[in-house]
Amino acid sequence: MHNAAIAALGLDWRYLAFEVRPEQLSQAIAGAMAMKFVGLNLTVPHKLLAMDMVDVLDASARAWGAVNTIRFEAEDGSGHWRPISELDEIPGRVRSHGFNTDADALVQALSEDLKVKLAGATVLLLGAGGAGRTAALKIASERVSKLFLVNRTRSKVEAVAAEIKRLWPEVPVVLGYPDKPVDLVINATSVGLKPEDALPLDPGAFSITKTSAVYDMIYRPAETLLLRQAREAGARVANGLGMLLFQGARAFEIWSGRAAPLPVMRRALERNVYGN
Ligand code: NAP
Repeated sequence: MHNAAIAALGLDWRYLAFEVRPEQLSQAIAGAMAMKFVGLNLTVPHKLLAMDMVDVLDASARAWGAVNTIRFEAEDGSGHWRPISELDEIPGRVRSHGFNTDADALVQALSEDLKVKLAGATVLLLGAGGAGRTAALKIASERVSKLFLVNRTRSKVEAVAAEIKRLWPEVPVVLGYPDKPVDLVINATSVGLKPEDALPLDPGAFSITKTSAVYDMIYRPAETLLLRQAREAGARVANGLGMLLFQGARAFEIWSGRAAPLPVMRRALERNVYGN
């Protein structure tokens, strides 16, 4: 999607994938900086490690405790730090600036793909790994009326609930399944990635018929068992492709300072992920 955006905007850039060992992440960031890269995206497990490796943290990275986008910046003639992409000549001193575009992308995907507004909504969130934790904090920050958290390893949701209590004490958080219908169920577990996977929730404890919308962060397969059952039960459903698209579009804007060509990026993503 990034190379499609680069081509659409006529930029002389390339987006490339590199496999980096966690113990060499710091060297890799320094290397990219030395080679005057415009920026980087990071994925698991680098998102957390990079928190201690970038020179400056944007509020988004501080808020969610993870960096998925780095922009390299240099000082212009008047001593202001500017994105490398805006400078014709890059002076010696370059710094790395860490951002997080994942959390906003989830809210945008919920709004655009499911027409869900989080303020005042009741939400059941499944999973408390990297994506689940960020989602829980972001959802709480949007002032939902109640957030139910479920995860296989209970200690992880306990830790997330404690974090929410500290940051947004007014948001009611319940550990466990709701006993009433909710507005939205989100799957942030990896259950559903494999075709033979069961549901990511316990159907004896919560029936999927008790929600009007379901978001599954998984985008391949395009329809998980959870999404299929929810769709058949009449709920609005969306998979995680929108989230992937919106975090990428925001990263592209951070690097380039230009509006991301969303339709072009969506088309390229769909072609790449689904081959159609
Ligand atoms: P992670 O940190 O490894 O967390 C995995 C989560 O799944 C944990 O909550 C884990 O529970 C749970 N889980 C794994 N196997 C399970 C099982 N057999 N039964 C019950 N729960 C199980 O991974 P992540 O980075 O948070 O990613 C989670 C999912 O979100 C993945 O499917 C990933 O592809 C997707 N994702 C999508 C996007 C997007 O842009 N659409 C972005 C990020 C992630 P425990 O804590 O008990 O281990």
